Amino acid sequence: MDAAPDGKGGPRKVTLIPGDGCGPEVIGAGIRVIEAAGIEIEWDRQVAGAAAVNRYGTPAPDALIKSLKRTRIALKGPLETQVGAGYRSINVYLRKTFDLYANLRPTLSFEGVPTPFRDVDLVVVRENTEDLYSGIEHQITPGVVESIKVITAHASRRIARFAFEYAQRNRRKSVTAIHKANIMKLSDGLFLKCARAIARDYPRIEYREQIVDAACMRLVTQPGSFDVLLLENLYGDIVSDLCAGLVGGLGMVPGANYGERGAIFEAVHGTAPDIAGKNLANPIAAVLSGAMLVEYLGYKPRAIRIRAAVQKTLRDGRVMTRDLGGKATTDEMASAIIDAMG
Ligand code: ATP
Repeated sequence: MDAAPDGKGGPRKVTLIPGDGCGPEVIGAGIRVIEAAGIEIEWDRQVAGAAAVNRYGTPAPDALIKSLKRTRIALKGPLETQVGAGYRSINVYLRKTFDLYANLRPTLSFEGVPTPFRDVDLVVVRENTEDLYSGIEHQITPGVVESIKVITAHASRRIARFAFEYAQRNRRKSVTAIHKANIMKLSDGLFLKCARAIARDYPRIEYREQIVDAACMRLVTQPGSFDVLLLENLYGDIVSDLCAGLVGGLGMVPGANYGERGAIFEAVHGTAPDIAGKNLANPIAAVLSGAMLVEYLGYKPRAIRIRAAVQKTLRDGRVMTRDLGGKATTDEMASAIIDAMG
């Protein structure tokens, strides 16, 4: 076992948030795979979301916030925001509190998963802190409400910088900024202006722009033509689920939220209430989110090993969860991935 260094010689401490609905099942699978890959982590288990409301009367108890401030890194299952919990969304709250401004969703086709396209290998980079998620909404008069879209040069520049840095580090060829600046001339116009300015610092990476509606059509006809996608918060939310559909569904796509001083790793999907607690959820999104965490901790070869085991399991096709056309349980799929690691 390798202990991830935390500067004090012990195993690296990571906050573990099993989450609501299918969260504990898929996160449990993710932990098993990480441990089987030989990484020793001291998990600081915390409750959040609906589980925390039931136990502590709040979706974000002090112990959770303290743990995140201490570890600055978490593996998290999906969280349910209950109506009247005092938060618009617990997920949005955590991203804003820890300024996790960049949401990254690598979306890849897998051999063995039947989809219309074989060549999807794209990465969604979504701005996480502003846009129509500003939370500024008010009623002007009964029957008329306003919801404010906030775009700043600061947030636009730093997410563009993140996308280009990611592209450069991972030998990606292009970054496409997706927008609706033909209609939202000032807000999306500012986003594009910032993206163009940052693009000039990366002459080896092709910079493209595409209007969001046209981009959606191209994504469902020629997804292989995209590489890194750079989006504001709302377009990023919608387009990333569309992209998950291209590669076999929400159970397949991992995600991470990065800030300057920390990161939360989480599958793209929600709590899946229809299948929660039945050992039916596909754990691959959670396992691949775990691989992103392992890479963040400095163990790239181990992360590559986990990803290769997922690929092998899917290619083999004998152990598949229901969403992939098989009959296997969450636990069986995790065991198959562990076996594939050899
Ligand atoms: P939430 O309100 O938490 O977002 P939701 O039902 O609106 O929940 P998801 O939880 O993302 O959204 O689920 C959407 C659909 O995708 C559901 O039919 C669910 O069963 C399916 N799904 C989500 N995650 C998985 C998974 N890991 N494995 C299999 N199916 C999944």
